[in-house]
Amino acid sequence: MSYAIEPPPIPTVAIAGSAARFPVRRIFCVGRNYADHVREMGADPKSEPPVFFTKPADAVADSGASIAYAANTANLHFEVELVIAIGKGGAGIAEAQALQHVWGYGVGVDLTRRDRQAEAKKAGAPWDVAKAFDNSAPVGPISQVRNHGHPNTGRIWLAVNGQTKQDADLSDMIWSVPEIIAALSRSWALKPGDLIFTGTPAGVGPLQPGDRVECGVDGLEGLSFEIAR
Ligand code: MN
Repeated sequence: MSYAIEPPPIPTVAIAGSAARFPVRRIFCVGRNYADHVREMGADPKSEPPVFFTKPADAVADSGASIAYAANTANLHFEVELVIAIGKGGAGIAEAQALQHVWGYGVGVDLTRRDRQAEAKKAGAPWDVAKAFDNSAPVGPISQVRNHGHPNTGRIWLAVNGQTKQDADLSDMIWSVPEIIAALSRSWALKPGDLIFTGTPAGVGPLQPGDRVECGVDGLEGLSFEIAR
């Protein structure tokens, strides 16, 4: 078989303690998964089921990257999130089996054009322009479950230029990792290489050119990047 044009490269993210790379198939994201963030966005945490949206696989960026301030926004926001890396696929996965599908975990930032998201919400329009842009998914090195287990408690935090902006605990998640995998796999057959961003706690805010972002989740390798000047 030959290709009519050069086939695109497979997007990848780093793996903690390994030179190998984790190939990214798709990126799923959960909206509204920490009650304090749901409240800061003006909604009721208990009233809604999980909201899923996606980013293209090639939206990933490595820790250490210099990321251009996104076009078409004057309000580029950070959202630190625990990221699940799926190693075994499946549809209709039961909560009790869900963790068997996880290969590892990383720290990610769901970069968001908040102004475009507000317009989309108001218009009842899709979120793609707000969420699914180039370099909108920086992800730190993935820690393998076989070495690090499944984090379900511990600090999740983000700092801009050394100033802490988000500081919460994984146990504050409204939907747990098994619940997210079970719910997502009712609508999509999950495949190896899928990443799932699991939602952000309160404290989201804007980034400016030249800002340095550092973030982490207890027990996982951290993520840092800068917004280019
Ligand atoms: Mn998010």
